[in-house]
Amino acid sequence: MSKSKVRVRFAPSPTGPLHMGGVRTALFNYLFAKKHGGDFLLRIEDTDQNRFVPGAEEYIIESLNWCGLHFDEGPGVGGNYEPYRQSERKTLYKQYADQLIESGWAYYAFDTPEELEKLRLEAEQKGEVFSYGIQTRNALCNSLTLTNEEVENRLQAGEHFVVRFKMPENTYVTENDIIRGEVTFNTSVLDDKVIYKWDGMPTYHLANVVDDHLMEITHVIRGEEWLSSMPLHVLLYRALGWEIRPRFAHLPLILKPVGKGKLSKRDGDKMGFPVFPLLWNDQTSGETFHGYREDGYFPEAFINLLALLGWNPGIEQEFFSLEELVSVFSLERVVKSGSRFDPEKAKWFNRHYFQQKSEQELAVLFQPVLKEKGVTVSDEMVIKVIAEIKERCELVPQLWEQGYYFFETPKSYDAKTIEKRWLAETPGQLTEICGVFETVESWEQPLIKEAFSNFMNEKGWNFGAVMNPLRLCLVGGNVGPDLFKICEILGKKETISRIKVAIATIAK
Ligand code: GLU
Repeated sequence: MSKSKVRVRFAPSPTGPLHMGGVRTALFNYLFAKKHGGDFLLRIEDTDQNRFVPGAEEYIIESLNWCGLHFDEGPGVGGNYEPYRQSERKTLYKQYADQLIESGWAYYAFDTPEELEKLRLEAEQKGEVFSYGIQTRNALCNSLTLTNEEVENRLQAGEHFVVRFKMPENTYVTENDIIRGEVTFNTSVLDDKVIYKWDGMPTYHLANVVDDHLMEITHVIRGEEWLSSMPLHVLLYRALGWEIRPRFAHLPLILKPVGKGKLSKRDGDKMGFPVFPLLWNDQTSGETFHGYREDGYFPEAFINLLALLGWNPGIEQEFFSLEELVSVFSLERVVKSGSRFDPEKAKWFNRHYFQQKSEQELAVLFQPVLKEKGVTVSDEMVIKVIAEIKERCELVPQLWEQGYYFFETPKSYDAKTIEKRWLAETPGQLTEICGVFETVESWEQPLIKEAFSNFMNEKGWNFGAVMNPLRLCLVGGNVGPDLFKICEILGKKETISRIKVAIATIAK
């Protein structure tokens, strides 16, 4: 592989559903890769078996596919750097942990969880925070304090251990983050992170760096929460003797719509918008979390709104297709500060894509909603309905809210309209209108309207006094588009039948 080829990875841990912030990370990786003719990889970072959630990996892959963020290499797709699941790469990491121990960059630590917990509590009582590192490591149970023989014996005896990275003292690590510019850390404030465990599993830090190296990743584009891990990662490259390492770019946070802090799944519950791309059923808590897909958003709208959370195109344009994003995206235009998420703006984006879709396309998306409601109806009818109500909608399920009465006869009639509009003469008038409708041969809006109007004029009846109750009979309330269009779409038989049913029902 030529060193110049851009290779980026999205490296989620399958600990639950992918948050929309995660999808944005994937999107920015994808855009950057495609912009530079590079590769976009999916790597599943599942070294922490305790946090593994069944179904999470499938969810991640389905989400990326729904968004159109197809990966070039990854689980199920393959590639030259297989496998792409860290649990399947388990045996590969030990040699690097060994190498770090041999070169003095890491050490064995035998302290038991109970001992460490005790130290943590003691520190807490003094108002301090215990940290395993420069200040404390020389008084703890590890290969820096034990003799070689003692270490050997403990390992031979199969004692529990972890391998910790030996953070150098008072060293400045400076890195030029593509988004944040030069960032400097003093190692004295960093602890000795666990990089490898007794069970033969590396921790995130070691596995992440080793895999980025082996998979020849050129740019690490990830969330801000990983910025504090950057000095350790840079030192790991140094310690392992790998001169070529990726450039880093740490993306800004997505903030709550109101108040302070990072957007969380609870914000979605509180304010009634999805935080996840797809619906997620939490097996442990039994909770169900909304998904953009199931709530009727389009992937193109979702992608568009995510792109503008933290990236500034530098031009007035707000609507971008995925292809357009690929051509205009640059990491240099990603901002440092967090971006506030606005659920109303999300709907606004969806409205744009909704209105752009043809009635035929919307019908394909609406048919499953109808099926769920137990409605079987031809595409032709659905297309006609959509043409009438489309403008009032921004999400697919709203087509039902705006047009349910086309598909089911009214189950009840609005009491207020009855009180105001249903007069003593109404049933008689409507019965006569049924007679008029019977005579209309070609059941089309202009002809129905003409027959109705001629009859009304002949009779000298007040239009409003008849049209309002007529609408009540057909839709159950005072809603909907042009009345004669409703008649046309319902068909002659259904229109007349609804009027008769209403007369009989309301009379009671
Ligand atoms: N496994 C980490 C996560 O879950 C990946 C962080 C990184 O991209 O380095 O976000």
